[in-house]
Amino acid sequence: MIKFLDLYQINQMHKTQLIEAFERVLDSGWYIMGSELKKFENEFASYCDTKYCIGVANGLDALILIIRAYKELGVFKEGDEIIVPSNTYIASILAISANNLVPVLVEPEISTYNLDAAKIQAAITTKTVAILPVHLYGQLCEMDKLLSIAKQHNLKVIEDCAQSHGATDSSGKRAGNFGDAAGFSFYPGKNLGALGDAGAITTNDDVLAETIKALLNYGSHIKYQNKFKGINSRLDELQAALLSVKLKTLDQETEVKREIASRYLTEIKNPKVILPDVKLQEAHVWHLFVVRVQQRDDFQRYLTEKQIQTVIHYPIPPHKQEAYKEWNNLTYPISEKIHNEVLSLPISAVMTTSEVDAIIGAINKWY
Ligand SMILES: *Cc1c(COP(=O)(O)O)cnc(C)c1O
Repeated sequence: MIKFLDLYQINQMHKTQLIEAFERVLDSGWYIMGSELKKFENEFASYCDTKYCIGVANGLDALILIIRAYKELGVFKEGDEIIVPSNTYIASILAISANNLVPVLVEPEISTYNLDAAKIQAAITTKTVAILPVHLYGQLCEMDKLLSIAKQHNLKVIEDCAQSHGATDSSGKRAGNFGDAAGFSFYPGKNLGALGDAGAITTNDDVLAETIKALLNYGSHIKYQNKFKGINSRLDELQAALLSVKLKTLDQETEVKREIASRYLTEIKNPKVILPDVKLQEAHVWHLFVVRVQQRDDFQRYLTEKQIQTVIHYPIPPHKQEAYKEWNNLTYPISEKIHNEVLSLPISAVMTTSEVDAIIGAINKWY
């Protein structure tokens, strides 16, 4: 079986350095808020070219904390609206709901699966305070267009970078450095994955960064003094140390995925399989390689018979989820079409040439 994502093999590539990092943390006797966290935060801020990187417990918390900080600073209030893509992973939307703000769903462009800038204007009301673009599957949104709309309407831009570590625009600017703040996830299967849960926030805003640092640590800047009713969402020393190891080879691994993606894009020639639209090579870091097929379930069954494991990202659109009953009667046709037709093919830095050959061969033989 060709695995969809072989996390065992991916982490085996770094085994020696990961064990070294583990021993260093074990022997330090210091496990929370120490030098490993500072080191990783500095490295990741430098990678994104942002002034701050703040480690947190996971990607959902990263987004929740950004919105929460804007509430504490009096920029957002409950009932305000945030524009978010209708086909995103549910976490982007949960982060808004968790703060008692209102998610306003806007449809994506079907060819890129990313927020359609042309549809944002119509969704803006007097209550809109922010746009939350998601660089879905690893491809940057059209940030120049989104930023100009945001500027025109005085909206904050909060990037969801959970799938887009290292994606760059034509000037080399990286995901996480376009908006006012960005949330990253280091869930094990993400482009940069910890060996457990982890996340981070990047921003260039001093006041926002200070507020978030307090909020994630019980609302406290100074031990035993609580300015806010905060939460506990710290990135621990061990995960930070492991992430430092894996950050070193992130770009190399992305390069391998780009080569596989480029083979898929040129060699898959089955007219029933619609390939993703890529605007710029560097803008895509291929967290997922997502195709669209009308008879998706047949196609997936066929690939399983050919020993090729695939995954659907995602089978149910957010507005059809039980958690959002109030939206269940609404229709978002593009999003629904995407959820009915998408299938993610295996793509990772540990795949062999013969595995890629087998996948392309099988797809081209399907009819
Ligand atoms: C994974 C993911 C998140 C949440 O990250 P966690 O670390 O799992 O909490 C948020 N948004 C998107 C788009 C994601 O893919």
